[in-house]
Amino acid sequence: MTAVARTEVDRCPGVLAVHQAADGGLARVRVPGGRLTATQLDVLRLAAAELGDGRLELTSRGNVQLRGLHADGPQDLSDRLFTAGLLPSIAHERVRNILASPLSGLDQQSRYDVLPVATALDRALCDRPALADLPGRFLFALDDGRGDLAELAADVAVRALDERTALLSLGTRGVQVEWDVVPELMLAAAEAFLAVRDQEWRIAEVARGEDLVLERLGLQATEALPTETTRVVAGVHGDALVVTVPLGSLMQEQAAALVQVGDEVRITPWRSVVVPAGSTGLEEVGLVTTPDSIWEGVTACAGQPGCAKALADVRADATRMLGELARVVGRGRRVHWSGCERRCGKPAAGFVDVLAVGNGYLVDGERV
Ligand code: SF4
Repeated sequence: MTAVARTEVDRCPGVLAVHQAADGGLARVRVPGGRLTATQLDVLRLAAAELGDGRLELTSRGNVQLRGLHADGPQDLSDRLFTAGLLPSIAHERVRNILASPLSGLDQQSRYDVLPVATALDRALCDRPALADLPGRFLFALDDGRGDLAELAADVAVRALDERTALLSLGTRGVQVEWDVVPELMLAAAEAFLAVRDQEWRIAEVARGEDLVLERLGLQATEALPTETTRVVAGVHGDALVVTVPLGSLMQEQAAALVQVGDEVRITPWRSVVVPAGSTGLEEVGLVTTPDSIWEGVTACAGQPGCAKALADVRADATRMLGELARVVGRGRRVHWSGCERRCGKPAAGFVDVLAVGNGYLVDGERV
């Protein structure tokens, strides 16, 4: 892997480091393992209503963003999140980037319940002052064995093999380890990355980064990693219901409905949430509970008016042209709409690229 010379400052937004977007302050709330209690979701819902534009945005890393925050919003928001247990460490707030398979422990495909490991990893991460220096883009992933997180290319990833063992990987190769040492090894890998990096944000950006980190850990990774990704779509999966949120934008009424259906929701990295199977009242507020919906797999960046770089209001256009585009590219495909060539929030691979160019859109580079 070629080294990447980073010259920019890491401006990854958080709750304290709010990004000033064209539509006001943008705060990103890290949700390790995607887990929110119903009470925490309601705190976020109310904060969006009272401090922002009312929406909760779900991100491609399973976090939650509030937009349109007014000048006093960030302080008030951080107070609310601290009280709700969503800001356990001020110093670590932007580095708690921990993904876990959202259906873990809830269906037959789950080889091991990785959610408790995600919680343990998060606590241990916040206990290590030096790890507050990790870049805001550094990512940990805990895959319960189904392969749903493979395409997200985490810096330090673990995939369950069985109840006792997992495959730890830092890129292309893995090493078998026992579950009880997983949190410690993942954090040791992060510390080793900080020791070998210069300005880079990800292990893959460091020349021979994977090898250097493995050497520091005293590990030899030999097993090739499975690279195929299992896509989790809306619908019932064992004890769970996966609910797609159109364009990842959770409106007040929708968030209020999700608060009612159980004690906990899990945010996925696919702009959906996991709630108990049998939950009702969700389709009525515009949420998607079946895989055949025209919304399934459709994502968009912020676009106008939220982003100053945007050449179009991609979310309004995506909504208006949803049926038309599905007829052109085929229903059920992943489609990502971008307001400019940065393509923020795009899926890692295998998607139809819809790009605003100022006087219309290109679809996979072609004008349609
Ligand atoms: S892809 Fe471009 S227009 Fe869309 S949010 Fe990113 S920078 Fe803004």
